[in-house]
Amino acid sequence: MGKPTGFMEHPRELPADRSPLERIRDWQEFHLHAPEKLLKTQGARCMDCGVPFCHTGIVLKGMTSGCPVYNLIPEWNDLVYRGLWREALDRLHKTNNFPEFTGRVCPAPCEAACVLAIIEPPVTIKSIECAIIDKGFEEGWVVPEPPASRTGKKVAVVGSGPAGLSCAAQLNKAGHWVTVFERDDRVGGLLMYGIPNPHLDKAVVQRRIDLLAEEGIKFVTNIEVGKDYPADKLLKEFDAVVLCGGATKPRDLPIDGRTLKGIHFAMEFLWANTKSLLDSNLKDGNYISAKDKDVIVIGGGDTGTDCVATTMRHGCQSLTQFEILQKPPMERAPDNPWPEWPNIFLAGYGQKEATAVFGRDPREFCVMTKKFVGDGSGHVKELHTVQIEWQTGDNGRLVPREIPGTEKVRPAQLVLLAMGFLGPEDTLVDSLGVERDERSNAKAAYDKYATSVEGVFAAGDMRRGQSLVVWAINEGRGAARECDRYLMGSTDLP
Ligand SMILES: Cc1cc2nc3c(=O)[nH]c(=O)nc-3n(C[C@H](O)[C@H](O)[C@H](O)COP(=O)(O)OP(=O)(O)OC[C@H]3O[C@@H](n4cnc5c(N)ncnc54)[C@H](O)[C@@H]3O)c2cc1C
Ligand code: SF4
Repeated sequence: MGKPTGFMEHPRELPADRSPLERIRDWQEFHLHAPEKLLKTQGARCMDCGVPFCHTGIVLKGMTSGCPVYNLIPEWNDLVYRGLWREALDRLHKTNNFPEFTGRVCPAPCEAACVLAIIEPPVTIKSIECAIIDKGFEEGWVVPEPPASRTGKKVAVVGSGPAGLSCAAQLNKAGHWVTVFERDDRVGGLLMYGIPNPHLDKAVVQRRIDLLAEEGIKFVTNIEVGKDYPADKLLKEFDAVVLCGGATKPRDLPIDGRTLKGIHFAMEFLWANTKSLLDSNLKDGNYISAKDKDVIVIGGGDTGTDCVATTMRHGCQSLTQFEILQKPPMERAPDNPWPEWPNIFLAGYGQKEATAVFGRDPREFCVMTKKFVGDGSGHVKELHTVQIEWQTGDNGRLVPREIPGTEKVRPAQLVLLAMGFLGPEDTLVDSLGVERDERSNAKAAYDKYATSVEGVFAAGDMRRGQSLVVWAINEGRGAARECDRYLMGSTDLP
């Protein structure tokens, strides 16, 4: 611990973001780099507490508390405070293959569980993590590290999101020949085609993929396993298989008018936007434009926020985001104590941008959409909604009740459905005959990752359902460890 009194001397200070009105004019990242002096004083706030809850990585009441990759946070906070950046980078890479991704997009459950957060704002852990790895790249410290020898074993990893990439990185470290299959034209999963550029620059994603390729991992794109590449061939050609295909089946809203044009799943919208942006800087027109449209985003999570930010950059005419749940409180409720994830009202980067342009937060809570109505030529024209309240039903669970007299008609020419995901798509899991759990995910125990099929493992969203990048990295690393044990009889992987 560098400075015993640091937390009493320095208040929490985050690096600045670019102003919302400036950043919606481009697709660059919205975070600015923090000056080194600021990072040092922020590192000094870490108390190196006896039990560092920040790196516990557990699930409390269904939400994450502490860092799921068990980052050695107090150690690298201290190293940053003392200016030992190279050592901090080595500590960081011990637990996290891709801190440049988590340092940008992780919701930072470590900060929610920081002991200092009991009485003060927490240590700025995520910004320090991001600064360590960004400096590592700037200084040229992050270089390809191929394994010294090869085992001769061949492993197929299906899916190239953070689970597939971390799994491939670890298996390659152990000396196996790893091939990653990806059905998209670019590698990265939701890091590439889900989370938009302003939140995670695609050059940052590609930089890591290039490093992995230089370390000896083979990437095969535009191949959907189970369709373009038969599952039995995969099982014959490889000694083991790890399924990291994600949980990308979207939740639909099957109400009147759903088939009208102009109503899209969020991922159709986000995927096309990033692809067009990367292919042609949006010049090819192969994306769903929100320009001059009244846009309604249904769903208030991360995906909804990304839709809000993207429509703001297109130049929408108006923007509203519906959330079916109640507005969360401004402070932790008594039944939501530290170190649980705080269920409080926060504005994401997209909501801040919409507020700056339209003068109000785009979110409306407890809104239920009853039907979509068309303009007579097959295109959506308006949504009919009603306000609801949540009441305790007969079985003790909360149920929505419509409030009479609150019906509204809302104009919309573009509607984006961002209501979450229902589990993995069928092709991959079914073609390999892998058993499913009660939520339709690939069935495999956490920390074991073995599926019902010999030599086939599953990790990330495909096993746990739609979650976080940091959990995908945790699971990819764990599946690599178990796969290595299966192949070699024992393992040195963490
Ligand atoms: C819009 C959006 C924004 C998000 N924002 C955040 C955020 O800010 N922070 C955060 O922590 N988490 C965020 N998440 C969640 C996070 O992105 C996921 O939890 C994480 O990417 C899961 O990683 P994964 O590797 O398991 O799967 P994915 O990233 O989904 O990757 C799976 C890959 O497998 C490929 N695939 C599937 N089937 C096949 C097949 N048969 N053959 C070949 N390839 C196949 C897919 O094309 C895909 O590329 C977000 C999710 C979404 C949808
Ligand atoms: S990966 Fe996420 S939880 Fe872990 S230290 Fe980084 S920001 Fe915190």
